[in-house]
Amino acid sequence: MCFDLTEEQLQIEEMVRSLARNEFAPKAAEIDEASRYPEENMRKLAELGLLGMLYPAEYGGSEAGPVAYAIAVREVAAACASTAVGMAVTNMVGEAIFRFGTVEQRRKYLPALASGKGAGGFGLTEPSAGSDAFGIATTAVREGDSYILNGSKVFITNGSRACVTIVVAVTAREPKKEISAFLVEPGLRGFSVGKPEHKMGLRGSDTVSLSFDDCRVATENMLGAAGEGFRIAMAALDGGRIGISFQAVGIARAALEAAIAYAKERKQFDRPIAEFQAIQWMLADAATELDAAQLLAFRAAALKEKGKPFTREASMAKVFSSEAGNRACHKAVQILGGYGYIRDYPVERHLRDIKVSTIYEGTSEIQRVVIARELLRRASR
Ligand SMILES: Cc1cc2nc3c(=O)[nH]c(=O)nc-3n(C[C@H](O)[C@H](O)[C@H](O)COP(=O)(O)OP(=O)(O)OC[C@H]3O[C@@H](n4cnc5c(N)ncnc54)[C@H](O)[C@@H]3O)c2cc1C
Repeated sequence: MCFDLTEEQLQIEEMVRSLARNEFAPKAAEIDEASRYPEENMRKLAELGLLGMLYPAEYGGSEAGPVAYAIAVREVAAACASTAVGMAVTNMVGEAIFRFGTVEQRRKYLPALASGKGAGGFGLTEPSAGSDAFGIATTAVREGDSYILNGSKVFITNGSRACVTIVVAVTAREPKKEISAFLVEPGLRGFSVGKPEHKMGLRGSDTVSLSFDDCRVATENMLGAAGEGFRIAMAALDGGRIGISFQAVGIARAALEAAIAYAKERKQFDRPIAEFQAIQWMLADAATELDAAQLLAFRAAALKEKGKPFTREASMAKVFSSEAGNRACHKAVQILGGYGYIRDYPVERHLRDIKVSTIYEGTSEIQRVVIARELLRRASR
């Protein structure tokens, strides 16, 4: 498998790296400290076509493809992880609407997402259904030309900023449980947004609960057919996991760069700490693991770009990148010693920001479940 980037992908990498380093990175600490949604960063991403990278210009997108998208997420994450997650979920939602939506739904929502009119939201998790996503309890009952939604979602990224949220709900229980997906717009009667969660990291990203109390959604707002909602959600997460892999690689790369710069400057025992083998080994291990993570993640993105199956590869990339990224950020804090633990240096933020990558879009444990299931399924054929 060849990972040479095309001319266009290299240009996108250069453009996003320069934007992220010059404009996003200098504000990242302030955004974190104030738990401030990075509105201006999202606007900038929209201007550059980076919020609709996975669908064509006909619907306002830039159709740069999964590999270019992954690189863009990595570069943004290295500068401001809160911005990267808002960007990633918006792209994921847009792609799902392009893939599973009607022409009318595409025309209505995709230009709005790409132009930054609003972010995209993805409402799957509920208070009693996280890893067991099929266990959701939110209901959608057909009444004439509408569905009436009741229930609640938790931890929804972009939830209060979204111009459209994919909400997954139970549409039948007998003869078997049937789950469907709906495109929900803000302002609908009976739809309310909870207060922002007070988080360990990604403090600039918008994370809220959503409640549905007899909320009427038009039948034309069903995404895909009745009963297809779970498949749509899982397909969206397969792609999303590639984004999270690159987000983790980006955050950890920033931590490693900070640790290298610090190790060359900081002197103890009359020499830079970079001369101590203990420090060198931490740097070497982190760099090796991040390269391995990135190769796994590129493999998944390349398979997706070619239209080949990538579920197992996306889960492998996600579990490895997020865990290796966490290890790298831990090492970066260790290398900075006491200074790593205080907010004057960025590495403690990187560690707080990267933690959730082993949790959201499927925990590490669930990625292993997916990988094992795929392995056993293939082996039994
Ligand atoms: C910042 C943030 C943003 C998020 N954004 C979104 C979003 O936009 N949309 C959305 O729908 N959700 C979102 N989530 C929710 C996220 O996807 C869930 O938190 C995650 O899937 C885990 O679910 P849970 O928190 O209910 O944990 P649980 O499922 O209760 O898991 C608790 C522990 O048990 C383990 N566990 C559970 N089942 C098994 C098993 N079968 N085998 C082994 N171990 C198991 C888990 O791995 C974990 O360690 C977000 C979460 C956070 C923190």
